[in-house]
Amino acid sequence: MAPESSTKEEIIVQGIAASQGIAYGQIFLYLQSELEIPSYQVDPDKRLDEIARFDKALLTTRQQIAKIQDEVEKSLGKNEALIFDAHLLVLEDQALISETIREFETTGRNIETCFDMVSKKYIQAFSEIDDEYLRERAGDIRDVAQRVLQNLLGEARNSLSRLVERRIVVANDLAPSDSAGIDKGSGLAIVTDSGSKTSHAVIVARSMQVPAVVGVRDLTKRVKTGDWALVDGYEGLVILNPSEQTLFRYGKIQSQKKSFEVLLLEANRQKAVTLDGVDVTLMANIEKVDEVPLVKEFYAIGVGLFRTEYLFLNSSRIPSEQEQFLAYKAIVEGVAPNPVIIRTLDLGGDKPMASDPDLFPKEDNPFMGYRAIRFCLDNHGIFKDQLRAVLLASSLGKVKLMYPMISGAEELARANAMLEECKVELRSRGQPFDDKMEVGAMIEIPSAAAIIDILEKQCDFFSVGTNDLIQYMLAIDRGNDRIAHLYEPAHPAVLRTLKRIVDDAHRLDVPVSVCGEMAGDPVYAPLLLGMGVDSLSMAPPLIPAVKFLVRSMKMADAKALAEKALSMTAAKDAYALCQEFNRKHLKME
Ligand code: PEP
Ligand code: MG
Repeated sequence: MAPESSTKEEIIVQGIAASQGIAYGQIFLYLQSELEIPSYQVDPDKRLDEIARFDKALLTTRQQIAKIQDEVEKSLGKNEALIFDAHLLVLEDQALISETIREFETTGRNIETCFDMVSKKYIQAFSEIDDEYLRERAGDIRDVAQRVLQNLLGEARNSLSRLVERRIVVANDLAPSDSAGIDKGSGLAIVTDSGSKTSHAVIVARSMQVPAVVGVRDLTKRVKTGDWALVDGYEGLVILNPSEQTLFRYGKIQSQKKSFEVLLLEANRQKAVTLDGVDVTLMANIEKVDEVPLVKEFYAIGVGLFRTEYLFLNSSRIPSEQEQFLAYKAIVEGVAPNPVIIRTLDLGGDKPMASDPDLFPKEDNPFMGYRAIRFCLDNHGIFKDQLRAVLLASSLGKVKLMYPMISGAEELARANAMLEECKVELRSRGQPFDDKMEVGAMIEIPSAAAIIDILEKQCDFFSVGTNDLIQYMLAIDRGNDRIAHLYEPAHPAVLRTLKRIVDDAHRLDVPVSVCGEMAGDPVYAPLLLGMGVDSLSMAPPLIPAVKFLVRSMKMADAKALAEKALSMTAAKDAYALCQEFNRKHLKME
């Protein structure tokens, strides 16, 4: 830990512990704001200068995009970098450029105003075209136009992916694509005013092993870029201007935690088998292709959940069938011979596609709105491109397909019918796929949990998304820090529902996994296993602690724990039982 300390008063702020770890460093305050475009008349003598300013902004933008393209090619590969060709083409679009200059010459308004007006006209026109490919160009123009305007206004793009120094990112809120965009080497920790343990930005932070504290209310108003802070992701604390004593104390805590983690990592090489000889399957949740090495590093038995929407969120446009196929191929081949469960798009909710707002108009209740399978069943072109890409990848390894947010049998039937159409299309193209690819449904809406016997007729496995299931059962917005304390996984209604899902599925011989955050929580994992859940899927870095517990417990004791927890009438009592079980078994020699 760095030795810097401060003469300013130490302030301790309590938030919600969202991703484990301790970090000490300087703050980078990340406040997103809409670009404000000033509008003014340009002095006739300065008109040539104004055009030169425009040329310079175009050139700078071109250089920036080429640099990003280069970086993407190095980190993700040639195909992913091709996306930026479309952006470079926008900059060469003579219609856009000469119309801006014409507008400037006619009106004499500053070049930002003219460029903003002309680019918006093009975005509007492209987004109304009845051709998917051309419609996607609207997103490219929007992205590039933002960059040009920022360069004209002299504003550094307030982007996290440009963060080069190692800083603690403090933001009022982070979109999942924001946290996915933080470079592993640059984000020391993440702190947000809002959010909760299961908001998607936090799930991403956990996968990247970046400490995070959320729900710290108005912290963004109390700090500025450059302030020193210590983030304790274990206890959910942010300590501003930590004193020498605090730094010393945390130095000790950190080294204890580190040595404990080293022991866990060593133990993680062993198989996940209980003391009474029951094998347990621990799988990985991943969001990005570059997380594949983590699957092996943490000895996961394959991928239990690949959240494909991040391919879309991290791109300025909808990835094509071929682009998706290449991503799925990289994962399937990287994880072979273990299986990969590819979940179809779960855009919407707290994951709208910002680069294409027309696809996701603002909603009052996004979590109960146009999300996941609802969006896919409405956007056949996008859904079928994805289904074909998954089918193509199924010829390269063990691939299973999973639909998110299934609420009833009709949705499942419609999705499967589209899958069949895609199979027919691939057959006529002469392209191979696994005709027996298993299909699963996520159980994350209470209505689905109540009709396991009906859904079973149309799928091969179930995976319980506890993050959403709890939010919908308890009517607690999973991203709202004000009610985060009411988000109780051990609520008797949740526990009874989980047990019922497992029992109903097992009666029909259908396997059930859990891929929500409960699965990777060492307090709840034994309870889920005790209920009979067949496999658990979690962010790879969470596997060692769960495996350690598995190896130090008897399945018979986990069953007794589940039985006792299910008999509790208050969440806090069931939680206390799980905690006690955890404490008893998580002792290291
Ligand atoms: C869940 O809801 O538990 C889940 C795994 O899906 P997501 O977190 O992506 O909504
Ligand atoms: Mg979900």
